Amino acid sequence: MAVWISQTSLVCLLRGTPNKFNTLMGSTVPTVDMTSKRLKVLISVDMEGITGIVSGNMTGSSQTDYGLGRDLMVKDVNAAIEGILEAGDAEIWVSEGHGGMENMRPEDLHEAATLVRGTPKPLSQICGIDDTFDATMFVGYHSMKGTLHGTLSHTYSGRAIESLTVNRMEIGETALNGAVAGYYGVPLVMVVGDLAVTKEAEALNPDIVTVVVKEAVSRTAAKTLHPKVARDLIRKGAREAVGRIGSIEPFAFKPPIEMYVRFTNATMADGVEFMPTAERVDGKTIRFVLDDYLKAFGAFVASVVIAGAV
Ligand SMILES: [Zn+2]
Repeated sequence: MAVWISQTSLVCLLRGTPNKFNTLMGSTVPTVDMTSKRLKVLISVDMEGITGIVSGNMTGSSQTDYGLGRDLMVKDVNAAIEGILEAGDAEIWVSEGHGGMENMRPEDLHEAATLVRGTPKPLSQICGIDDTFDATMFVGYHSMKGTLHGTLSHTYSGRAIESLTVNRMEIGETALNGAVAGYYGVPLVMVVGDLAVTKEAEALNPDIVTVVVKEAVSRTAAKTLHPKVARDLIRKGAREAVGRIGSIEPFAFKPPIEMYVRFTNATMADGVEFMPTAERVDGKTIRFVLDDYLKAFGAFVASVVIAGAV
């Protein structure tokens, strides 16, 4: 049967030699003295990759099954928190990253975590990250737009973005946000979601712990694990990922940052063209060249805001 059926194979603990992205990094692997330092971890949470969610019926706040979706979401996150705490004492932040970023009921979240919710917020889905963190984990993530058999695949904004390319590599939200952490020297140590997004993560760095909770059979249908089974895997994955801190290199793009943002229609690009440094490439595409990844990240997020307003 497919790999996702086997619980032991669902947590893919792949080790790897330096890969093509190592050459982009320029950062060194941080060393963490686990015996003397309280761990600090930020979990960024999206919704499309949560166990059991296969369509917009559970991800839209006006949908009838939204309540089920937000329950499943917080329980996947709590499983990750439990896994971190099994590995040791930790300060844990959780940054909401879906829609209006107010999906999880605060009281449902594990009490060990600090929740960052609402939008807009600095650094968007990974708000709060800085160089004081030891690691970041992504839970409920999804693959980039156009991915074959990627549950609810899109790139940041399904309405606005056709594709996002940074330094000649098309990326989704895993790399987009992983590189924000990498900017601060913080490694992405675990990605939880469907099979497609875990493959996307492993292409960035095969050392990242990945947990597959479902396998898409189309963009809006999937074979999904029972939530309790998935949560157990997430908990074990998080514990394992903490053990890998210090051996997983941060993922980052080397400046200068050349970014192509391709929109779903030309009106959006017409609006974004007003931004400083924006270069119009063609009807639907804007190019930015910036000397700093956070500036490029900000330009991208601002582009989406503008595209949503025209
Ligand atoms: Zn989302």
